[in-house]
Amino acid sequence: MQGLIMSHAISDAPLTLNVELGERSYPIHIGAGLLGDPRWLEPYLVGRQVMIVTNDTVAPRYLERVKQGLSGDREVREVVLPDGEHTKTLDSVSLIWDALLAAGFNRRCTLVALGGGVIGDMAGFAAACYQRGVAFIQVPTTLLSQVDSSVGGKTGVNHPRGKNMIGAFWQPRAVLIDTDTLRTLPERELSAGLAEVIKYGLIRDAGFLAWLEAHMEELRALDGAMLREAIHRSCALKAAVVAEDETEQGVRALLNLGHTFGHAIEAHQGYGAWLHGEAVGAGMLMAAELSHRLGWLDDDDVVRVSAILEAAGLPRVAPGNMTRDDFLEVMRLDKKNLDSRLRLILLRALGDACVHDATPKAELDALLETFPR
Ligand code: NAD
Ligand code: MG
Repeated sequence: MQGLIMSHAISDAPLTLNVELGERSYPIHIGAGLLGDPRWLEPYLVGRQVMIVTNDTVAPRYLERVKQGLSGDREVREVVLPDGEHTKTLDSVSLIWDALLAAGFNRRCTLVALGGGVIGDMAGFAAACYQRGVAFIQVPTTLLSQVDSSVGGKTGVNHPRGKNMIGAFWQPRAVLIDTDTLRTLPERELSAGLAEVIKYGLIRDAGFLAWLEAHMEELRALDGAMLREAIHRSCALKAAVVAEDETEQGVRALLNLGHTFGHAIEAHQGYGAWLHGEAVGAGMLMAAELSHRLGWLDDDDVVRVSAILEAAGLPRVAPGNMTRDDFLEVMRLDKKNLDSRLRLILLRALGDACVHDATPKAELDALLETFPR
């Protein structure tokens, strides 16, 4: 795969990756300038009726361009929702259904999710339920949604009692990733997406991790070819994990590296104070430190994890106001813990993650007490 990456980088052509899920297989197209080019959107539309779901931050920037990528005889409508994670609710999804019904959309219609993970999750869930399921296409416009939420088929909304508590598995017909959209993304959001990119290297691919170490500056400078490679490789890793374990019975859990600590940070600070990727960044360093305590990683490995997070512009400390007990309290409520035993994703080596449910409490306590704030 290393060799492939280098050879791809020579041309500007978009890369295509197939997510192999039998009848539900679909392509991911990655490149610059995909939006507005009918070659990428048109082939995946079902029926004449198209509903674009987006928000009021993304719409002024990209809605017209997406419409340009649709042929003249389509019946195109749009729902422009307010921006923000707090809008990821059943009420917002109801607005999408209202719009579909008001426009008389039938089962042969296609929803196009244009935006970050919030829009993708909601539009996907709306598509999963509308008339028992209609087609949808992901057009992710944040790095996080390009490398993570748009791949894998998880859709849904938050409930007042917990994030992503209501949802369905529903696969898109295609994912169209236009790397040009990242030019308008706030830098902090870019770094948050890079946390998930780094995660793929840490859990499965030491070669990719080394590639990221070498190219982080170019990625943050939005070098198109480098972005395309990093996104392609990330999607390939996620797609491989998803193909092995579509509904999260086993190996898919490895994608949660750094997430148990990260969720604790997000929940304690109040969702939104830390971006998800920022919390995952600090959480991955905590997981690396704990892996070091268990004798799996050596000092140099932990230094490498810390250095790449720093290069990506991510935090490497936990919130100053968060005690060991604060962490423990939230971690026990984490939905990823299938029973009362704390299940953590740890690193046996860089590029080799495992599920571990036998971490000695004393080691966990020591980590939570000594990790820098
Ligand atoms: P987001 O959708 O809130 O987007 C972040 C911000 O960037 C928003 O303000 C958005 O309007 C703005 N934005 C989007 N594209 C832009 C662009 N091109 N230029 C300028 N601004 C732009 O957040 P996110 O990080 O993309 O996604 C987070 C969500 O994804 C969470 O709800 C999370 O639960 C979900 N998620 C889902 C999965 C999954 O498997 N389904 C995986 C990971 C995360
Ligand atoms: Mg995540």
